[in-house]
Amino acid sequence: MVSIEVDEEKCDGCGECVDVCPEGVWIINHEKAKPKNIDACAECCSCVEVCPQECIEHSSC
Ligand code: SF4
Ligand code: SF4
Repeated sequence: MVSIEVDEEKCDGCGECVDVCPEGVWIINHEKAKPKNIDACAECCSCVEVCPQECIEHSSC
């Protein structure tokens, strides 16, 4: 079971996680990233690696 958390204090809504994710897991809502479709996650860790704010906590990455 994958868990993904975002530190909303740090997230600036840049959308790089949305752009990099091959599975369409992410949306931006009110200028914050939300992992809306976690069940589709392929655990590639690209979102964690690309995030300039280092605000994504992923259980597999
Ligand atoms: S890449 Fe990081 S800072 Fe940018 S929207 Fe995604 S979670 Fe927020
Ligand atoms: S680990 Fe990969 S597939 Fe999962 S949310 Fe991040 S970029 Fe998308």
